[in-house]
This record gives sequence, structure tokens and C-alpha cells, in this order.
Amino acid sequence: MSALTVARLAASTPAAPIALPRSVILHTAAELTYAGCDDLTSIVHFAAPSQHAAGRVNTVSLDTANGQIHCDCKGAACGQVCWHACYVVAAWQRHQAVAEARALTNAKLLKYGKKHAFFVANYRARVGRAGEYDAVRLLAARWEYRQRRALAAMPLAA
Ligand SMILES: [Zn+2]
Repeated sequence: MSALTVARLAASTPAAPIALPRSVILHTAAELTYAGCDDLTSIVHFAAPSQHAAGRVNTVSLDTANGQIHCDCKGAACGQVCWHACYVVAAWQRHQAVAEARALTNAKLLKYGKKHAFFVANYRARVGRAGEYDAVRLLAARWEYRQRRALAAMPLAA
């Protein structure tokens, strides 16, 4: 769920108590470490060591194109809301590439996205995969573009 979706839900629903799992309160987005991305699927991955199984690392993935989230932790496997899923959008928004894209004007964001799309395609053609630096920046540019487009489509408050 994107930040804008969350904001819309918060704005459109009456105030009601939200039952968050205790684990959400005990953690922060800063505990999720960026673990890679795939420019072909638009998915970014973040990881955090398991609190319950020594040596295990949980990976939570965010589809930056549609906001879907998947986590491989035991809580998520049991159908519970896990803190990883609650914070993955915030962790993505904290990523340096997203911060870079957010700071650009619309015209510069377009150039930034095209530049990294070119580098990703060029690198993939030469070595068979995208370079991490350019791939994450391409996804960040696309994410920022979608955020701005969604914001522009929101009706103004009366
Ligand atoms: Zn999880």
C-alpha cells in the first residue's frame, strides 16, 4: 500500500481505533535494510534479522508499481500483519534514490528517469543484467512520478 493510498484511507474514513500489532509499535522503518531491486518487476527488497530465529533474515518486498507487499517472515506466513510490511513503504521512501528523485523538478525528474532507463538498458544489453545503482534510481524515478501523478489527480478540498 503506497503512502498516498494510506493518506487517502486516513482522509476518507472516520476516526476509528486501529489495532496495530505490538510488533509494529516496537520497530521503525530504519530497521529495514535495503537489499536490492529488480527493474523488470519494479520490486524492491528490504531485510531485517529475525527476532525469533537466530541467523534468519526476513525479507519484505514492495512492488513499487502497484504497492503490493510480500514478506517471508513467520508472522506473514500465518496471515498476521507484520511490522516489516507496515514499514516497507516508509523504508523505501527513506532510500537515498527516492530522496534524490523527490528533490527534482518535474522536468528534471523526467530527464533523471530517462537517463537511468538508458543506463539500465545499456548495461543489460552488455552484461545481461541491470546495474544496481541505475536500477534503483530508475525505480525511484518511476515511483516519484506515480506519486506526483496520483497527487495531481486528487480532488482539491473544498
Ligand atoms: Zn514480515
